[in-house]
Amino acid sequence: MQSRHKGAILVLSGPSGAGKSTIINAASSEIGEYYFSISTTTRAPRVGEQNGVDYFFVTKESFEEDIKAGNFLEYAEVHGNYYGTSLKPVREALNEGKLVIFDIDVQGHRLVRAKMNDITTSAFITPPTLKELEQRLRARRTDDESVIVNRIENAKNEINALGEYDFTIINDTVEVSAREFVIVAKAARLKQSKEEEEKFIQTWLG
Ligand code: ADP
Ligand code: 5GP
Repeated sequence: MQSRHKGAILVLSGPSGAGKSTIINAASSEIGEYYFSISTTTRAPRVGEQNGVDYFFVTKESFEEDIKAGNFLEYAEVHGNYYGTSLKPVREALNEGKLVIFDIDVQGHRLVRAKMNDITTSAFITPPTLKELEQRLRARRTDDESVIVNRIENAKNEINALGEYDFTIINDTVEVSAREFVIVAKAARLKQSKEEEEKFIQTWLG
């Protein structure tokens, strides 16, 4: 039987160091076929990060050209760097009926909601406390002290946007969070666009 659903969007936000990547990786084999949107950024790669896998790492000039050309579905300045989602691969994945997962900040979530609200589900991921976030950022050992301080300051603001999300995942243990994430991903797939709802009603009426 053909699926009733075309693609859907799942936005994940939360402070840097919340565990978003860890949770997606832990749950990836249990959420069915999905497309993870690889963002473009002007920030420098961290040790171990690969171009085209974690991000597309570009210069500020190149990013600004893409803005001018209208290539981004959304973009924002976070911690002094640009981050953006390219429109084309997202559109293709949606047309193929895939679940498209975004790891973007609260500004990006607002922009996606403004454009594609009817197919968007969202979850805010956070460690249980600010103190725990701080410990995880330090334990990750990928950022300088000044970068960590900046991220913690940003997190104090971002937490206030929690109410804008459909779900909250409090990342205490990876195992429980991954299980919750699987449920959220399933719920996201069940969301139908207005267009599909109308089509279904017409078919249902016969
Ligand atoms: P994000 O993608 O949100 O920036 P990461 O997935 O890189 O966050 O996680 C930040 C750090 O915290 C990593 O070192 C990761 O191994 C660790 N971490 C993630 N989830 C947990 C958890 N539930 N308990 C302890 N450490 C965690
Ligand atoms: P990091 O530097 O830790 O990888 O990411 C910093 C922040 O930027 C995180 O909150 C992450 O969700 C956000 N981010 C990553 N990619 C994008 C993007 O394409 N758009 C927006 N708006 N935010 C992004």
